[in-house]
Amino acid sequence: MKKLVLATSNKGKVREIKELCKEYEVVPYTDLIDAFEIIEDADTFQENALIKARAVYNALGDEDAVVIADDSGISVDVLDGAPGIYSARYAGVNANDKENLKKLMQDIKAQKVENSPAHYTAAIAIVTKCIEKTVHGWMYGTALTEAKGEGGFGYDPMFIPLGYEQTLGELDEGVKKELSHRSKALHLAGKILKIL
Ligand code: IMP
Repeated sequence: MKKLVLATSNKGKVREIKELCKEYEVVPYTDLIDAFEIIEDADTFQENALIKARAVYNALGDEDAVVIADDSGISVDVLDGAPGIYSARYAGVNANDKENLKKLMQDIKAQKVENSPAHYTAAIAIVTKCIEKTVHGWMYGTALTEAKGEGGFGYDPMFIPLGYEQTLGELDEGVKKELSHRSKALHLAGKILKIL
């Protein structure tokens, strides 16, 4: 079974990527080496994913490693696309998922609306000795000003995917598996991984 090293220790992402890449042995890089700070200072999801994947590939010191990184976030129309690439640090550099979720709901409410069209983006970067590739996936829907349900992670309790009436916090996890930005991007990544 081919090993994929994940350039993340975000538990929600690790869980979903393991579930979506069952034909691979998926290992967070922190199982192999100590966690280290990666400065994601680019202004696109794509470049930030590449920064993470390259940093982990170089730190591993194993030239045969296959590293994948996910850079993702939510963009809300009524906030001109915020938080976007700043989704992980929307409520501050050390903010947790709950604090980010609360701030996003408050900021939408401050626009005097109860909800707004929004979308998630995931950029997946693959870095090996021979290639650097990126792919994207998107999921469209509505961002709410109240959180519902406990499923998923991050902003999921305030996001209703297009065509549904419940949030990703409430829906069965199979729905997210089918529809998500991450599953779409990983589907494309899978095509690249197959020909390595
Ligand atoms: P990153 O680790 O810099 O890519 O930050 C991604 C941030 O975007 C996470 O901290 C989450 O808050 C948010 N995010 C990305 N994907 C999802 C998702 O599938 N559900 C909920 N929140 C997500």
